[in-house]
Amino acid sequence: MGIINKQLIAPLQICSRAAKLLVSWEEIMKKYECPCGYVYDPAEGDHTQGIAPGTAFEDLPADWTCPQCQAEKDIFTEVD
Ligand SMILES: [Zn+2]
Repeated sequence: MGIINKQLIAPLQICSRAAKLLVSWEEIMKKYECPCGYVYDPAEGDHTQGIAPGTAFEDLPADWTCPQCQAEKDIFTEVD
């Protein structure tokens, strides 16, 4: 019984892990918009401030500001 249960459960565990990874990837790749119209795209990063592509908005340094209007991160809003 023990072996059968493991065989049934293992693929399910892998699936739920993959699903979590997928969700977190979507979280990471969320775009944020500044009131000035600039959109931070994690896939591109921000080369003007040395931000590598793939950097989540949440992972930007606290002193990162909008490259267009120097607004702080706090006033950015999530883009759907
Ligand atoms: Zn701005």
